[in-house]
Amino acid sequence: MRILVTGGAGYIGSHTCLELLHGGYDVVVVDNLCNSNPVALERVQALAGKSLTFYQGDVRDLALLRRIFQEQEIDCVIHFAGLKAVGESVSQPWRYYDNNLNTTLALTKVMEEAGRKNLIFSSSATVYTASNTMPLQETSQTGGCTNPYGWTKFMTEQILSGISHADPAWSVCLLRYFNPIGAHESGQIGEDPRGIPNNLMPYITQTAIGRRERLSIFGDDYDTPDGTGVRDYIHVVDLAKGHVAAVNYTVAHQGVEVFNLGTGKGYSVLDMVNTFQQVNQVSVPYQIVARRPGDIATCYADPEKSERMLGWKAEKDLADMCRDAWNWQCKNPQGYQA
Ligand code: NAD
Ligand code: UDP
Repeated sequence: MRILVTGGAGYIGSHTCLELLHGGYDVVVVDNLCNSNPVALERVQALAGKSLTFYQGDVRDLALLRRIFQEQEIDCVIHFAGLKAVGESVSQPWRYYDNNLNTTLALTKVMEEAGRKNLIFSSSATVYTASNTMPLQETSQTGGCTNPYGWTKFMTEQILSGISHADPAWSVCLLRYFNPIGAHESGQIGEDPRGIPNNLMPYITQTAIGRRERLSIFGDDYDTPDGTGVRDYIHVVDLAKGHVAAVNYTVAHQGVEVFNLGTGKGYSVLDMVNTFQQVNQVSVPYQIVARRPGDIATCYADPEKSERMLGWKAEKDLADMCRDAWNWQCKNPQGYQA
């Protein structure tokens, strides 16, 4: 089976390409490298001992997409390509709506023309309304997003559901990720944020290695066991394996289906810092600061539907995530740049 992976050079995409190659799939990547480095794809191929086909370009480019679908017999598409920084989406909304919506519109247009209608989309737990009770089920309320990034995920889910309802030949999986962290256990591929990290784990690893002075913990007065925010962290390799399961599901079904990809367990910011320090025997200086606007106290998944219907379940624990994130950081102190 041949899988087109948009955004395949990125953090989750690179790990998914590796799992696909391990699983015997042919992999075709399209990525404009706006937030990634081609070294990631070289390392994926070295780890897999197999090659993939790479097209450098923009997923909004209809001519490029038509060429790819002419040159490759694509059985299923995994659509990762998109911009993902929440804060940046508030200051640059047009850029986020343009990139994240027009990639999907161009891709589905060309898939329709080519008669290739199996699609997996990278959605996010951010589509869930903040007032839901935990754990979040796929049927929990969505909408009321607090930033343009979240709205692009919500709108893309609407677009793909509409396309799928209009033409039952489509098979669409909307995968709602919780908090992907960690890296491949080899330390060869991992998360390589540009500039100051927005997310917790890369901030922890960069602090531990001395690139940042100290971690700021955003609030310790939430209604949680220790007052800091609780999230459902999932190892990126487990997440990548969830995509392989979703490919098999998508090609065997029709219609649209939504799946949570999380572990079902919530950990606080202090749990993360303490586990990281303990597992890696390294110190992470931190200070408690004000809450970050837009953050909620607690967010974790009910992963039961994914286990039942995809036959997939996260297997790695928090210690694995902390160890692998640190291994990647130590082997690549400046990310792929070095
Ligand atoms: P990433 O930035 O590492 O990867 C995205 C990739 O898409 C990059 O390689 C980038 O160069 C590419 N890209 C962006 N716009 C493009 C375009 N117009 N044409 C071609 N390539 C383009 O991000 P990631 O963490 O791997 O996330 C992958 C997807 O998963 C994104 O859609 C993101 O919104 C979604 N997601 C991520 C998280 C997370 O915490 N990392 C959580 C939920 C959802
Ligand atoms: N967080 C923090 N300091 C940081 C980054 C994040 O205290 O430098 C907290 C944040 O408030 C939230 C949790 O860590 O409770 C996870 O944040 P992240 O941005 O990684 O993911 P989110 O769930 O917000 O998408």
